[in-house]
Amino acid sequence: MLAITTLLDERALICPRCGGTLTCADDSWRCSEPSCPHAESPFMVVSGTPVLVDFERSVLSAEEIAASGGASLVARPDRPGIVKRMLHPANTQAPRIAQRMVELLLADAGTTGRRPRILVIGGGTVGDGLEALYADDRVDLVAFDVYASANVQLIGDGHQIPLADGVMDGVIIQAVLEHVLEPVVVVGEIRRVLREGGVVYADTPFMQQVHEGPYDFTRFSESGHRYLFRDFEQVESGQVAGAGTSLRWSINYFVRALTRSVALGRIAGLAFFWLSHLDRVLDAGHSLDGANSVYFLGRRGGPVMTPPQVIEHYRGGM
Ligand SMILES: [Zn+2]
Repeated sequence: MLAITTLLDERALICPRCGGTLTCADDSWRCSEPSCPHAESPFMVVSGTPVLVDFERSVLSAEEIAASGGASLVARPDRPGIVKRMLHPANTQAPRIAQRMVELLLADAGTTGRRPRILVIGGGTVGDGLEALYADDRVDLVAFDVYASANVQLIGDGHQIPLADGVMDGVIIQAVLEHVLEPVVVVGEIRRVLREGGVVYADTPFMQQVHEGPYDFTRFSESGHRYLFRDFEQVESGQVAGAGTSLRWSINYFVRALTRSVALGRIAGLAFFWLSHLDRVLDAGHSLDGANSVYFLGRRGGPVMTPPQVIEHYRGGM
């Protein structure tokens, strides 16, 4: 990935504490607001990655990040490809939706006069089904996560995105909104960093059990997810994985609870891998009511969705 200072003008980065412009000299990041504590004390840098987090307003801990050198606090085991595929069948929607997003942004490039810039929130690992997007040389990616990796330029917190207003053309947030304490605040930040007409692609669990332990807080039905993005004009929305995948998750977590063994739960989930493949033959409406995860693709701007409109929006089985 390109260095953040290569990709973005310095004024595009802001202090997560006060919103002041950041300056970077000799790999030392400071806030330009004289009254801000970060004017004096620079932001932490771990593994060469600036940690642009306001720790007073974050579940992240400066001490833990410093002690771990920016490593992920949640174990991400490197399993063989075949096991990974059986545990998590390919996200078949993501490549198509990401492609549609890129096409929308390329069509805008004549008006914006710049290469499309897409922010990936939670981009520490390449998202499921986003491999083609990462290989696409027509767009620039900016990414942050709560830990350092080769795929991110920053460590940040989605509640205070350290980017100035309107500097992004697109935002991707996949399997992240369940892990934030205030999804409404995070979506407000996505809206703020997007230019008018900028495109968001959000992919969020619905019927999934707790994962990543203490860092898992919220779920959304397809309608709830749509209303979360009420300031956005919908391009499309729907389910990513359906009720068959949800049943597999339930079997896995039921077996964990019954046998007191995560490993046995996973094995049971593997044995029922075929349930995920049944998603495609299920009734669309009933499967949406039991969807494992849902997505929304939309543009910043347009009229705000009203409560009666979200009732109209429902396409489940009732
Ligand atoms: Zn500041």
